[in-house]
Amino acid sequence: MDVKGYAAKSASSLLEPFDFKRREVGPDDVQIEILWSGVCHSDIHSARNEWGGAVYPLVPGHEIVGRVTRVGKNVKAFKEGHFAGVGCFVDSCRTCLSCEQGEENYCDRGFTATYNSVDKDGKTTYGGYSTAIVVDQKYTLHVPQNLDLKAVAPLLCAGITTYSPLRHWKVGKGHRLGVVGLGGLGHMAVKFGAAFGAQVTVLSTSRSKEADARRLGATDFIVTKEQKELTEAAGSFDFLLNTVSAPHDLNGLMNLLKRDGTMIIVGVPPDSTQIHAFNFIMKRRSLGGSLIGGIRETQEMLNYCGENDIVSDVETIAMKDINTAYERMLRADVRYRFVIDAATI
Ligand code: NAP
Ligand code: ZN
Ligand code: ZN
Repeated sequence: MDVKGYAAKSASSLLEPFDFKRREVGPDDVQIEILWSGVCHSDIHSARNEWGGAVYPLVPGHEIVGRVTRVGKNVKAFKEGHFAGVGCFVDSCRTCLSCEQGEENYCDRGFTATYNSVDKDGKTTYGGYSTAIVVDQKYTLHVPQNLDLKAVAPLLCAGITTYSPLRHWKVGKGHRLGVVGLGGLGHMAVKFGAAFGAQVTVLSTSRSKEADARRLGATDFIVTKEQKELTEAAGSFDFLLNTVSAPHDLNGLMNLLKRDGTMIIVGVPPDSTQIHAFNFIMKRRSLGGSLIGGIRETQEMLNYCGENDIVSDVETIAMKDINTAYERMLRADVRYRFVIDAATI
């Protein structure tokens, strides 16, 4: 089928219109007319080849919601006209232990990413900055029908990427949680952390985000550029969820953890940073990381959001404004997720 989209043609070029083809619906496939597509910072890292491995043309986008327009003959759970979602991956090996346990995001053979990956037919996958997508039903999500659809799109990556580690580390009542970086991931971490009962502090480079942080559910706010504020907060957090997209000092952040505290990394700056051993040994602290979430947990998260009325704070944009949106994200000027109106493609 013919699809319209937007692609990066090289690491240094702006995104531009790109027409391409997707496979016809197979017996297990769901065809979705894309309505809204969230803009994740990973899209920028990928389009600009900041992590390596980019194959061009590259059509980003892995926060997809839309309307089912066709289903294969084996598909029972999705019907034409229903809303459906697609996140960061569209397939995995289905046989390794992680896949069997519903943690396809940690597939031993590597999942098939929604874009810039090789699908089982040997073709490059293209993401959600496009008018339609065809996905195996096992990797398609049900979207709560009671929520604002455009504000649901970011849940497919920013939502699950913050929900999953908070659940894994059982963050909740009695914990002090610090969310580092108030962007797309960060603002969802604040919402989930507060919903799970933790006392949430936002650690931000932007003083101007304080009122928003409190509105989103934080009770405290620290400006990380102010050494005095960091010194006062030393040894006070059970958990830090680090969502920062650019290289930054991790030593000062580790020092904010209590004895046995854990910093969970979800942000993936292109360059690595060193942490001194003292920051671990002095208070038996840990450093962990987490990659999106599996299909089962993503559905659980979407259902939780439906039941608790949780969505992303979004600013909708037309497809042609994507390059400006990237520039604004690089200036940490997004409140708090751009979502592309796919009707403008
Ligand atoms: P985003 O919306 O651009 O937010 C990133 C935030 O980081 C900014 O709003 C800013 O917050 C802070 N920041 C930016 N530059 C900084 C710097 N130099 N020093 C300190 N703080 C800085 O990005 P996002 O979409 O939330 O993604 C965040 C990161 O997570 C990206 O690296 C992305 O690739 C990664 N990611 C990982 C996963 C995963 O599975 N682990 C999934 C999705 C995305 P303040 O203004 O508050 O300082
Ligand atoms: Zn993402
Ligand atoms: Zn697997």
